[in-house]
Amino acid sequence: MHVLILGGTTEARALAAALHSEVRVTSSLAGRVARPRLPEGEVRIGGFGGAEGLADWLRAHGVDAVIDATHPFARTMSFNAARAAATAHVPLLALRRPGWVPVAGDDWRSVASLEEAAAALDGLGERVFLTTGRMGLAAFAGCPQWFLVRSVDAPDAPMPDRAEVLLDRGPFTLEGEREVLRRHRVDVLVTKDSGGAATAPKLRAAREAGIPVVVVRRPPVPDGVPVATTPEEAADWVRGRR
Ligand code: NAP
Repeated sequence: MHVLILGGTTEARALAAALHSEVRVTSSLAGRVARPRLPEGEVRIGGFGGAEGLADWLRAHGVDAVIDATHPFARTMSFNAARAAATAHVPLLALRRPGWVPVAGDDWRSVASLEEAAAALDGLGERVFLTTGRMGLAAFAGCPQWFLVRSVDAPDAPMPDRAEVLLDRGPFTLEGEREVLRRHRVDVLVTKDSGGAATAPKLRAAREAGIPVVVVRRPPVPDGVPVATTPEEAADWVRGRR
């Protein structure tokens, strides 16, 4: 059995680790990060050339099942996977860690996009901690606020006019996040609803400091695609198809 894992997440690596001794596993990475953490099993890097390219790849490599374990915000890849799997008649499962849920004391503003997040900053403060990654920063290019932009690799232009870049990669600690908020005198945090533990401490640090958080909601999983929320659940789905 040959399983293709569309990866780029902690959960995708955990799934590859769980399955690679039982079935043939190929993990696919987009190639966005200069030095990615590589999963166990076979790895291929780079785009497929849209849904048609992916469907061709599935047929040419005898893929029996696909797990879309991409980041919840990798919308294009998820929709391409749904189309390609339908075209090539290969079963598809989406692996999505649960989103974050606000608790007492949180001051969250829910928005649908990075553009809405930029608009929502009005009146929330002068110093913004932007943790949405290095893609899509153009949405904040016209904003008057000062930004602390945190990303794994250096972002490209267009960027906010007034910005400092903090290169770092999770997992992050609560102590470390408290320190970032304090040292940079952050007024407001912007995040995607990525979910998971690795980047969650910033939310608690913001709550403790009474800092509002602008949270970008997730795009939907494509219609008709079943969803698992943990690597174990996804591994069992694969085992059930052997
Ligand atoms: P995207 O906008 O959904 O995808 C754009 C294109 O990148 C796709 O059409 C595909 O190119 C290629 N691609 C994306 N994921 C791929 C994969 N796993 N293997 C091969 N090609 C892939 O994706 P994105 O938001 O730029 O994210 C890119 C990668 O970074 C994903 O693998 C995702 O898991 C990871 N990531 C994303 C975020 C985020 O916030 N978006 C955060 C952390 C990690 P073709 O059409 O040529 O096939």
